[in-house]
Amino acid sequence: MSRRKIVAGNWKMNMTPSQAVKLVEELKPLVASDDVDVVYCVPAIDIVPVVEAVKGTNVEVGAENMYFEESGAYTGEISAQMLVDAGVKYVIIGHSERRDYFKEDDVLLNKKVKKALEAGLTPILCCGESLEQRESGVTLDWIRLQIKSDLEGVTADQVKNIVIAYEPIWAIGTGKTATSDQAQEVCGAIRECIKEMYDEATAEAVRIQYGGSVNAGNAAEIFAKPDIDGGLVGGASLKPDFGKVVNYK
Ligand code: PEP
Repeated sequence: MSRRKIVAGNWKMNMTPSQAVKLVEELKPLVASDDVDVVYCVPAIDIVPVVEAVKGTNVEVGAENMYFEESGAYTGEISAQMLVDAGVKYVIIGHSERRDYFKEDDVLLNKKVKKALEAGLTPILCCGESLEQRESGVTLDWIRLQIKSDLEGVTADQVKNIVIAYEPIWAIGTGKTATSDQAQEVCGAIRECIKEMYDEATAEAVRIQYGGSVNAGNAAEIFAKPDIDGGLVGGASLKPDFGKVVNYK
């Protein structure tokens, strides 16, 4: 099955609203593509101006986080419905920085995934192992555990609308990319896990990204692997390099 590639930028806590609009304008001609879905996942305060700035282009906007409740006394949080109403199509859930610094666990992330899907958002669900886990040989078991917990109660029809991002923690923001074989091994295991949980057709439909120091120089080799359907890109998404990652061919 041929799956459409998806390249998403994760801006993290960068770009003020005015800087964001400037960056969108600068990247506009560089990220144009008929073959690849392009997403900018931006800080909450940038969502409204960035949705406006990408109008008429091939770029969709994503959020970097959301809360699973619909509304109420959750100071500082943003609901799935708020994101949808603002024109957001994707939401990153379970980035390792949120798992680590904000102590988000799989029970919470499972609630977020289900709420995002219910609201019509496409979750970009992140998973990944630490260097210690990789060195002790538990990577695949750990990833399977994350996927199974985060997708508990999600139906086959719903899971087809999820993007899974495999992001080894040791490769995020470090300049140390997984080799394309290492990335393929884990992305293949994720697809196998989805097949066990659902069925082959569902597993073949799910898009799986690699993330971790993806840049203009390594994207082509990584994205050529059979189970890798694009990338989640941090640092390089804030630079003209992002256009080269999108147009990696
Ligand atoms: C990320 O933040 O999801 C990421 C992959 O960052 P970087 O590309 O900078 O490693």
